[in-house]
Amino acid sequence: MSEPRTIESLSHWIGGRSAAGSGDRFGEVTDSATGEVCARVPFASAAEVGEAVGAAAEAAVSWGDASLSTRAKILFRFRELVEGEKDRMAAIVTREHGKVLSDAAGEVQRGLEVVEFACGLPQLLKGEFSPQVSRGVDSYSLRRPLGVVAGITPFNFPVMVPMWMAPMAIACGNAFVLKPSEQDPSAALLMGELWAKAGLPEGVFTVVNGDKEAVDALIEDPRVAALSFVGSTPIARYIYENGTRLGKRVQALGGAKNHAVVLPDADLELAADGLVSAGYGSAGQRCMAVSVAVAVGDVADPLIERIRDRIGKLTVGDGRDPGSDMGPLVSARHLERVRGYVDAGVAEGAELVADGRDLTVSGREDGHFIGPTLFDRVVPGMKIYDEEIFGPVLLVTRAASYTEALSLVNANPFGNGAAIFTNDGGAARAFEQDVQAGMVGINVPIPVPMAYHSFGGWKDSLFGDLHVHGPDGIRFYTRGKVVTRRWPDPADRGVDLGFPVHS
Ligand code: NAD
Repeated sequence: MSEPRTIESLSHWIGGRSAAGSGDRFGEVTDSATGEVCARVPFASAAEVGEAVGAAAEAAVSWGDASLSTRAKILFRFRELVEGEKDRMAAIVTREHGKVLSDAAGEVQRGLEVVEFACGLPQLLKGEFSPQVSRGVDSYSLRRPLGVVAGITPFNFPVMVPMWMAPMAIACGNAFVLKPSEQDPSAALLMGELWAKAGLPEGVFTVVNGDKEAVDALIEDPRVAALSFVGSTPIARYIYENGTRLGKRVQALGGAKNHAVVLPDADLELAADGLVSAGYGSAGQRCMAVSVAVAVGDVADPLIERIRDRIGKLTVGDGRDPGSDMGPLVSARHLERVRGYVDAGVAEGAELVADGRDLTVSGREDGHFIGPTLFDRVVPGMKIYDEEIFGPVLLVTRAASYTEALSLVNANPFGNGAAIFTNDGGAARAFEQDVQAGMVGINVPIPVPMAYHSFGGWKDSLFGDLHVHGPDGIRFYTRGKVVTRRWPDPADRGVDLGFPVHS
């Protein structure tokens, strides 16, 4: 007889400790490779979110006054603790999301790099000083924390995306409330434990699990000063419109349809490697996945041949199996959605070069698997071109010239990342200047900026002005102030109703 399965009961993380949900609404978290329910996650009510924000608001007062070295020491300790728990974190991500272990470890690493950047907070938060702006008068700028700030994050990077936000917000002196994806919430709870072990005061890092009710409560709570969101475009727009209506600072990162233009002079082996890695890594569930290859001139046929050859060598399987190159999709519902897109592509006349729909993984028949899928002769107006699929489906579209390819990329409503493969420096430079996207790769398919630069797209891929982490992260989580001061000097007295000019 097989062992009865244990279904873990998850909680929230409030006031520096685990807090069981008090409501009666729960979600089910599945092991994506087996399809089995592995945990139950409580969905916070608006009242529970209010209590969590209350605890965060109380904590924010003294945390905002904590010395820079106190904050830096805690961040350094947190960095060491995450480093020590990397494997455990990656295993949690693989179980709930499905991505292969090496990919999950890569996501933890990219998150850690933001923590390392935030460890430099004493330098990052320095203001500027101008002595003697007028006789006996000095002027200087400083940045103050906002108070309580919230982050609402997607399923596809359950460690990295919360770490784009929390270390930056906390380094800047804010209390941070995270509402992670209900599809893979366990990594966020482990982060709570690690922040507590690092010595972060209770209430400075909070996790409220839940769905729309919890998100709406965060939007509406007047004690929440700013919202960072990463997820799909319709929800990003919703968060931005409602958050800004209530006077909050909002950065809302949305979906993507990233194009990679391949010019006839490109190194086709490099381009094919890049397209396959970026198209099928994490089963296409990355906001920086390449989903459209724009083949210019006569490059399409040899490029497709190389892509097809590489796809044939990929092993799809349980992400825990070291032999797997690509894992399952996050849920059965998402699998149905992605299959539906492939069906629509066929019905609309795109040429199906590789079909992953019938893939089964032996011993994992209930897992959410679909194999790498490739379409040729895709054109705008087809559903597979116009919408974000978020699965292992790479599209090839053909363009007669560089100019036509650039127009196609720029006509797309999304503008997260874009790449060009070429050996022509002039073409690459023109692309870098003219393409309407926030992150550009030149012979690099997924141009995800390092932690010390900022990450963000253009157009429907980001609502708001500031990108995440790096210098923009510091600006987003602080408010600027300029002080002008003098010390009384008996020689400098007298009423003057004129507008102050400095001499
Ligand atoms: P999603 O928009 O469904 O969910 C994101 C978050 O919003 C989750 O925490 C979810 O609980 C919450 N949410 C969902 N519906 C809501 C509603 N009606 N009201 C309020 N909150 C709601 O996104 P997802 O499926 O978890 O993630 C995949 C999407 O995220 C893709 O579109 C992908 O491109 C995008 N993404 C973008 C970036 C980026 O940097 N631009 C990064 C990662 C993912």
